[in-house]
Amino acid sequence: MTARVPPLDLQQVTPRVFWTDRPDRPSARPALQGSVEADLVIVGAGYSGLWAALQAADEAPGRSIVVLEAEVCGDGASSRNGGFCNSSLTHGVEQGASLWPNEIQGIVGLGRQNFDQMMADIDRYDIDCGAYLCAALDGATEEWQMEELHASIEIQQAVGNDVEMHDEDEMRRRLNSPTFIGGRSRYNHHALVDPARLVWGLAAAAERVGVRLFDRSPVIGVEETSSHTSGRTMVVSIDGGTVHADRVIVATNAYRGPVRRMRRYMIPVYDHVLMTEPLTSEQMASIGWAGREGAGDSASQFHYTRLTEDNRILWGGYDATYHFNNGIDPAFELSEGTHQKIAGHFYAMFPQLEDVRFTHRWGGPIATTSRFTATWGTSHGGRLSWVAGYTGLGVAASRFGARVALDLVDGLETERTELEMVRRHPFPFPPEPMRSAAVGLTKRAIQRSDERDGKRGAWLGLLDRFGIGFDS
Ligand SMILES: Cc1cc2nc3c(=O)[nH]c(=O)nc-3n(C[C@H](O)[C@H](O)[C@H](O)COP(=O)(O)OP(=O)(O)OC[C@H]3O[C@@H](n4cnc5c(N)ncnc54)[C@H](O)[C@@H]3O)c2cc1C
Repeated sequence: MTARVPPLDLQQVTPRVFWTDRPDRPSARPALQGSVEADLVIVGAGYSGLWAALQAADEAPGRSIVVLEAEVCGDGASSRNGGFCNSSLTHGVEQGASLWPNEIQGIVGLGRQNFDQMMADIDRYDIDCGAYLCAALDGATEEWQMEELHASIEIQQAVGNDVEMHDEDEMRRRLNSPTFIGGRSRYNHHALVDPARLVWGLAAAAERVGVRLFDRSPVIGVEETSSHTSGRTMVVSIDGGTVHADRVIVATNAYRGPVRRMRRYMIPVYDHVLMTEPLTSEQMASIGWAGREGAGDSASQFHYTRLTEDNRILWGGYDATYHFNNGIDPAFELSEGTHQKIAGHFYAMFPQLEDVRFTHRWGGPIATTSRFTATWGTSHGGRLSWVAGYTGLGVAASRFGARVALDLVDGLETERTELEMVRRHPFPFPPEPMRSAAVGLTKRAIQRSDERDGKRGAWLGLLDRFGIGFDS
């Protein structure tokens, strides 16, 4: 896609996350000071950490639970994402079926169950996050993308997904972009949410059931101890405080948490997003979009887009960026080059919206594994478990990820912990500097593949044979 408009005047675009730039944003909770005790301590207050806290409290109401957050509750990926909520636990059924053909039916079933329970929990905990069920709309801008969409119908239908292909007219009736030559709708188990209101609602719900949340409390160490008078065997330290606990769950996802081992299997890639001003009714009429679906194109480097409650358009994706040594830095959240590039793509997608301006731009780190699905682990004799790596599809999958982390730390053998996806780690990323080189090579190969009608080429072909890759 090529740019049609002059460069964005970035001075006019607020460099903040649209979802959290609102007056009712909750204020920070106090940091932990001194020493407290808990049955379970959770590190990280995004969706994973908060779903772990809520599910743990739900199944054992007397359990004392502490959540320690480095910044402010929800400030990580959980308040920065697109709010696309999809039941897939495997970054799409095609990816899951290619990795675990014998388990895919069970994984899809667990994903649907998780999705339904999540929607029920949003109601039960009275979380006002604008959640609504809708289809997912996959647009094709090239013939090879249509062929790939057609080719995956069999897999989709084999697991009971309801999919419908669209010709150009029908696709443009659903979402009017002259770039679309066709597309498809996927009807089962998709929703859109306001991501920040979801994570804030989870935090409030957790507090209501007795979970203690501490902001600005970055964990700097987790150790086993035999000397504490309480008999608690784990000690979790922050600057100026400690929690003595029986069990620990680490839910720091893309960020640098206390478990070094996670970094072998996960790389943070920065994804960037733009938000427009609210569209007028004429502008809305010019794009159709009556179904208000979550939509995207179907290139390997894809864009995703959706409407907000007040008819703005969110536009993100395409240019996932990795920084040396799993680099994490607030400076990486704003990339002038990427924001300019994707703004150009937006106007090419919707030329009828050339007068629409952007109001917000931001970015955030996506924890990516080489198989595009989460991975789990334990340490300290099973008293600590961790989960990370939903690879751009974690809004719903994080609830499942948290459930599995709880199973593991409680020593439970369940249908979930039996899955190969849970028992085995993904192929590890190599250490630096090979890591950066491999990611760069893969990114260039993906770009070339999109330019050459989806032909995978030697490098991507090799990765495909091992079921590994790099995605956002
Ligand atoms: C731009 C963007 C768009 C996305 N779009 C979508 C989408 O549309 N749909 C979808 O399904 N997924 C999407 N994702 C992915 C999704 O947001 C994540 O998978 C999900 O939020 C992960 O939740 P989490 O709780 O595991 O991680 P996070 O929300 O990142 O939470 C981890 C928390 O741990 C804290 N932490 C880190 N280190 C420490 C420490 N040492 N001590 C204490 N706390 C610590 C962090 O501050 C952070 O709050 C997107 C992600 C991004 C960045």
